[in-house]
Order: sequence, then structure tokens, then C-alpha cells
Amino acid sequence: MKIGIFGGTFDPIHIGHIISVLEVKIAFGLDEVVFIPARQSPHKETMPTANKERTDMIKRAISGYEGFTMDTFELNREGKSFTYDTAKYLKAQYPDDELYFLMGTDQYENFDKWHNHDELIDIMNFIVMMRHSDDMEISAPFIRADQLVVEVSSTLVRTRIKEGLPYKHFLNEAVYEYIKENALYEA
Ligand code: ATP
Repeated sequence: MKIGIFGGTFDPIHIGHIISVLEVKIAFGLDEVVFIPARQSPHKETMPTANKERTDMIKRAISGYEGFTMDTFELNREGKSFTYDTAKYLKAQYPDDELYFLMGTDQYENFDKWHNHDELIDIMNFIVMMRHSDDMEISAPFIRADQLVVEVSSTLVRTRIKEGLPYKHFLNEAVYEYIKENALYEA
């Protein structure tokens, strides 16, 4: 089987994530995509949203999409999480499958600074998902994906909520309801 791996802070998960990953899943014939929430950096501009709330929202957003699952490996670990450790863990989970790590161009540009990046390339394939503003060559073994893109970001969602402007259309309905019920991102 072909397994996609999609990491992010998902604070919150939005339709831009779902649309691009679903389009890549179709284009590359992935059987499954595993969403891997990262530990929120304490240096981000907003207070980190609790792991439970971010994972509750991911569960709601991926529910009903065949082959979409979540793994909380990085949230459950102590200390810094390297993609290399996550890749080794996933390879043990899926020993007979081909792994495809889905990354944005920001991550592609910094890849040579990643821990054990040479070994990482031997463990997984890498698909680089292009955004509208991206204009760069993608070199092998990285695979370029020109999937459908909706330019929503978590930052935009959080800003809209703070400013009291509409944001429902950026989210899965159940995620929208969850954010309202729990008064997330308002302060
Ligand atoms: P923030 O605005 O807080 O930086 P984000 O919307 O970029 O968040 P992340 O959780 O950091 O969300 O994203 C995880 C991955 O999803 C990253 O590789 C990012 O490039 C990609 N991504 C985010 N939004 C989109 C989108 N609208 N289309 C395609 N890929 C996206």
C-alpha cells in the first residue's frame, strides 16, 4: 500500500489542508493518509492550543474521508520531535508499505538542515505540494505536486476569529461548531 504522511500544527485544521491532501491522495493513488499533529511551538505568536483540542478538531475534520487517519506519536513523546524519529516509527508500523511524506515548499527549502536528512530519504518518498505563490524547481528524488490549492491558513482563521469576521467557510462544519462551543482563538 501507499501511505501518505501529513504533519502540521493544525491550529486549527482547515479546508486548505483537507483539499490539498485529498487531491494529492487521488493524484498519487495513496491508499491512506496519516495526519500527524506536531507539538505546538511555545514561540508562536499565539498561546498554543491544547493537544486535546487540536486532536478533537482533526478527528472531526477527517471523519468521513476514506483512508484518512491520525497518529499522535509526536504529541506523546518527550523532548524535541525529529521527522527522522517519526519516520522510523512509521516504518515499523507499516513495514511492507511505501511511505510518502507530504511537505510544503517551506519545508523543502530547509530540508538540508533536517536531522539525519540523508537517511530520511532512504526511508520515505517526499512529495512537495506547491502553493500559488511558489515558483521554484523541485529536484529529484523529491516529487512535485501541482494539486488544487485553496489559500487558507490557520493564521487567517485565527485572525478572522479575533477580529469577529466570518470564518465558517474555511472550516469543516463540525470543526467550526467545536471552535464556537469551546470559545477557541477569541482572546
Ligand atoms: P499557520 O498559519 O499557523 O502557519 P498553516 O495553515 O500553514 O498554519 P500547518 O498546520 O502549519 O498550517 O500546515 C501543515 C502543512 O500544511 C504545511 O506543510 C503547510 O505548508 C501545509 N498547508 C497549510 N495550508 C495549506 C493550504 N491552504 N494548501 C496547501 N497546503 C497547506
